[in-house]
Amino acid sequence: MDRKFFVGGNWKCTGTTEEVKKIVSTLNDAQVPSSDVVEVVVSPPYVFLPLVKSSLRPDFHVAAQNCWVKKGGAFTGEVSAEMLVNLGIPWVILGHSERRSLLNESNEFVGDKVAYALSQGLKVIACVGETLEQREAGSTMEVVAAQTKAIAARVSNWADVVLAYEPVWAIGTGKVASPAQAQEASPNFVHFELRKWLHSNTSPEVAATTRIIYGGSVNGANCKELAAKPDVDGFLVGGASLKPEFIDIIKSAE
Ligand code: PEP
Repeated sequence: MDRKFFVGGNWKCTGTTEEVKKIVSTLNDAQVPSSDVVEVVVSPPYVFLPLVKSSLRPDFHVAAQNCWVKKGGAFTGEVSAEMLVNLGIPWVILGHSERRSLLNESNEFVGDKVAYALSQGLKVIACVGETLEQREAGSTMEVVAAQTKAIAARVSNWADVVLAYEPVWAIGTGKVASPAQAQEASPNFVHFELRKWLHSNTSPEVAATTRIIYGGSVNGANCKELAAKPDVDGFLVGGASLKPEFIDIIKSAE
């Protein structure tokens, strides 16, 4: 089943106008595989969304890093899905582990956000992943399945969802789960299990067509080997998405 390779860049809460312009200019000048081969989506902080949207090459797309769980209104400091749609932003990242852990976003809250964003016409990069303690306790799949279940229970249209498996212990730590590690520790193993979970709990078609991307210390040096794994359909990249090596990561689609 054909699943188009997906590369997302999460710029997190970083950057100035000048830095953002520089990254956009690097991306705009890059020679990368065509959009038939790879879908590229970058996610700047809210305040830079209009700037990036208006200056980024048309074959790359833009995502917000979060949105409110329901229709906008008296929710000071929040940004609604409707506002993103109004700005012409097609994608949103939801359930990132930094929001789950620092802002106490529960599985159900993330599931509700995914459902609402989809209902407004946004496409969603939905993040799941276990902490080091959970991995060491042997509960990786239990945790990832519970997070995915809360999303699956609220989603009927999987065509607009990309699942990002991001082990928390690998995010920003330089500790990528390498393909050379024991199979239980490799991201591909979780990707395989997650696809099996989708097969049993959604439908064979959803399991075959939904892209499951990997995030956690992906860089220019490790991307090729990870991209070759059959159940790794792309990446969500944090730190390296701010650097020129992001281009090499996009090229790993080929
Ligand atoms: C992320 O923030 O989603 C991420 C994967 O970060 P990093 O690539 O820096 O580990």
